Amino acid sequence: MTTADVVVVGAGVVGASIAFHLASRGVDVVVCDQGHGGRQGATPWSAGQVRLTHGDPADMRLAALSLPVFERWAEVVGGDCGFRATGFALLVGEDFLAVAATAVKELDVLGIEARLLDPGEYARRRPGLRYDGVAAVLTEPRSGYADPVATTAALLDRAAGFGARVRTGTRVDSLVVSGDTVRGVRTATEVVSAAEVVLATNVRGAELLTGTGVAVPLSTTRVGWAAVAGPELPAVDVTIDDTIGTYFRPWGEDGVLYRVPMDGRGGPPDTASGPVRPDLLEPARSLVARRVPALAGRVATASGSALESYTPDGKPVLGRAGPGGVYLALGPSGGGFKSAPAIGRAVAAELAGAGPAEELDPYRFARFSGEGRRPVARRYRHM
Ligand SMILES: Cc1cc2nc3c(=O)[nH]c(=O)nc-3n(C[C@H](O)[C@H](O)[C@H](O)COP(=O)(O)OP(=O)(O)OC[C@H]3O[C@@H](n4cnc5c(N)ncnc54)[C@H](O)[C@@H]3O)c2cc1C
Repeated sequence: MTTADVVVVGAGVVGASIAFHLASRGVDVVVCDQGHGGRQGATPWSAGQVRLTHGDPADMRLAALSLPVFERWAEVVGGDCGFRATGFALLVGEDFLAVAATAVKELDVLGIEARLLDPGEYARRRPGLRYDGVAAVLTEPRSGYADPVATTAALLDRAAGFGARVRTGTRVDSLVVSGDTVRGVRTATEVVSAAEVVLATNVRGAELLTGTGVAVPLSTTRVGWAAVAGPELPAVDVTIDDTIGTYFRPWGEDGVLYRVPMDGRGGPPDTASGPVRPDLLEPARSLVARRVPALAGRVATASGSALESYTPDGKPVLGRAGPGGVYLALGPSGGGFKSAPAIGRAVAAELAGAGPAEELDPYRFARFSGEGRRPVARRYRHM
């Protein structure tokens, strides 16, 4: 039998970040992931965008706490996460001008520079776009995107450097329960005994809780992107177009990656990650070509999609719940990459006994019942 202080189940970017922060604090960690370091889970397929503006100020705060980590990765974590500060732009229509103006003030309070530009002014920076229907552009100069595979590998490497035991190809089959307390996990080959078990299992989140009385409300959705490359494409920022409901960002040296709206079908957790279904590519490109006309008629050179788990309010569930010894880091809801550094640091602090991390308060499981319930904050048209 193996023993540890904490077992982290799931080595996507969220589990990897938690493991890194735990190990760097001297906590004895075992990380188990059923994948073999390949393209399993959502993380390797993520678009990797790091932006701060959200509909909910709580999400803005988590992302703002994470941005400096992406910016100073080599110093804070070590290695390279591939962060590129391209700048972020949110295109909003007339109805959302006041909301965007408020967001600029909220970002200022968080110490983040942001501006609200009229489209003509922004067009001088990004002349290759069309701006019909855009009333203003919120810009975040420090934001950008990173490489999710490199980010996660760096976190796991550094965790191992601090003594974490990272076990790939190791599926956790069940929790070890004694009375009303979880004491570890069971794999096909062994029991790993630990005082705390962190579930960072995304679309497989609820499975291991079967029989514990904890029902986390998670639904599964497929999300995806496609990319076009070519020297004649315009330079773009990481951009969310809230007027028509798409996003795009630079792809490599001369390409553009853009959102592919999926057809809403999730599928069982084993449904393969991989390229987008071909019939979804043309509608996605037509939509984004309304904003980036040079994309019209172009053939996607790459695409990716994966399952992601969502909570009813589109926010993760972070904290202890159910039997003693269980800590949930579930339901990343389509945005877990940009906030993983702050989530990892706060979760590790709580597990190491530092007391409740205030920035995690809006994400507790209790919000799904009784007094813990909080309103859904969705302030833009599409995001
Ligand atoms: C196409 C796409 C684009 C995205 N774009 C962005 C973006 O631009 N910006 C952003 O912030 N977010 C984005 N996201 C969301 C973000 O990537 C995810 O929220 C994040 O990667 C989730 O990380 P995770 O560690 O929670 O889950 P995952 O990466 O899914 O990892 C969960 C891991 O748990 C393992 N696992 C599950 N069950 C078990 C078990 N029983 N035993 C052992 N291992 C187990 C799996 O093998 C898997 O590796 C995107 C997601 C997708 C799919």
